[in-house]
Amino acid sequence: GTGRPAHSEALAVLDRVFGYEAFRGEQEAIIEHVVAGGDAVVLMPTGGGKSLCYQIPALVRPGTGVVVSPLIALMQDQVDALRALGVRAGFINSTQDFDERRVVEAEFLAGELDLLYLAPERLRLDTTGDLLSRGKISVFAIDEAHCVSQWGHDFRPDYLALSLLGERWPDVPRIALTATATRATHREITERLVMPRARHFEASFDRPNIQYRIVPKADPKKQLLSFLTQEHAGDAGIVYCLSRNSVEKTAEFLSRNGIEAVPYHAGLDAGTRAAHQARFLREEGLVVVATIAFGMGIDKPDVRFVAHLDLPKSVEGYYQETGRAGRDGLPSTAWMAYGLQDVVQQRKLIQTGEGDEAFRRRAAAHLDSMLALCETVQCRRGQLLAYFGQEPASGGCGNCDTCLNPPETWDGTVAAQKLLSTVVRLQRERGQKFGAVQIIDILLGRRTAKVIQFDHDQLSVFGIGEELSEGEWRGVVRQLLAQGLLAVEGEYGTLVLTEGSGSVLRREREVPLRKEPKKTVASGAASGG
Ligand code: ADP
Ligand code: ZN
Repeated sequence: GTGRPAHSEALAVLDRVFGYEAFRGEQEAIIEHVVAGGDAVVLMPTGGGKSLCYQIPALVRPGTGVVVSPLIALMQDQVDALRALGVRAGFINSTQDFDERRVVEAEFLAGELDLLYLAPERLRLDTTGDLLSRGKISVFAIDEAHCVSQWGHDFRPDYLALSLLGERWPDVPRIALTATATRATHREITERLVMPRARHFEASFDRPNIQYRIVPKADPKKQLLSFLTQEHAGDAGIVYCLSRNSVEKTAEFLSRNGIEAVPYHAGLDAGTRAAHQARFLREEGLVVVATIAFGMGIDKPDVRFVAHLDLPKSVEGYYQETGRAGRDGLPSTAWMAYGLQDVVQQRKLIQTGEGDEAFRRRAAAHLDSMLALCETVQCRRGQLLAYFGQEPASGGCGNCDTCLNPPETWDGTVAAQKLLSTVVRLQRERGQKFGAVQIIDILLGRRTAKVIQFDHDQLSVFGIGEELSEGEWRGVVRQLLAQGLLAVEGEYGTLVLTEGSGSVLRREREVPLRKEPKKTVASGAASGG
């Protein structure tokens, strides 16, 4: 050692190696704690600067910092970037051949590596354990630590083996890092990785420069186009779609309409994907239309918008994806179009997809939280922060659609009763279940072929909902679903009652609903009248 306090040594490395003048937020406290040999659990949003939290301790402490990361595809890039800064870094994963691995192993054993990135499945191998015990380790960093949680959607069984690190190397500090964790996952990380003495660091999840907006979906591609031309002409951004097909179609549509856009999804060959990603990073105003395969580990500071044309599966996913906007701190927009069909489709995916009952229940709970965020009449940011267990500012954030343009509400109690009693009648009197389209046709008194086929014009509820438009009825269905007063099930998305439905039917509760915008204005509630 130089005899300097750990703190100023860390600061010197920050400046000399990384070229930064000051630590950000909690970085300083975290690094100081780990350099001194303490364990840490770090919860920091994407772009918050997690990497330095283990890279600097690895450089300051004697030995090699071992980084466990599931993002194998990114290791080469990470290592290249570090080497460009003069940091001695290497990785071991399944993409290497035997000789490449031997070189890295030799460097590690010779004490010539500052950082060694490892894929989690390597740690199960005895050979890896032997290798590590023959070298000197400065710190273990467990990146994407939420992968240890069976509650999350990123669960990796290999992460469970990481609990052994503390037993085998009791004197080596461990730092677990994640951007996607609720309080419950945070606790689970601590327990499963067995880090009882770890200090917890929790950076704020607030991204004040991101404006959150969620608009009802009508003609999504057109809505997107007006959003882009009116507010983000010439800006770089990401548009997320659920399927490869809609990625392709949307990218084509934007290109045809004068916006430079390229597709990105797992069905494209690796060369095309790499080329599109490279263009996105290099160029100033490119739009990437992508499935969620795109974005992990991408560090582009000036992404001005993230748009969702389909509903993310969870609030964590939404937060992570929208978090790719505005890392430079400048104003950016998180825009989403969301409709009833999204709910039906996602429920169907959950019910017909793989996974056991417990898995389905969790997926459904994730979706419910996402729906609640979509349908809230309160501050979106407040709801997001509350979801992550953080206290939101009272009185709203002033930078989301519901704050900027408070949604009008109306008393939807009678409408809800009409809709629910239609569901009840069909089920009790006919033993039938139907999806939203048929229920709404009945309420509107439409004699469609399917209504005639099932004699639904004979029901006493036929035509009792003519005071609302079809769009408004879809809004009622969506909001009842989000409030848990109605449920959708099965392959055909049939509507069924929930425990909560009864209280509405018995007139025990009121049902305030958000007003649907009269016309689907381009950017929806925030810019529309
Ligand atoms: P995370 O892993 O939390 O998503 P990164 O570690 O990739 O975030 O950091 C995000 C960006 O912020 C990177 O470009 C990084 O170089 C930059 N950064 C991190 N810490 C600092 C700092 N103290 N000063 C300036 N830039 C920083
Ligand atoms: Zn707000």
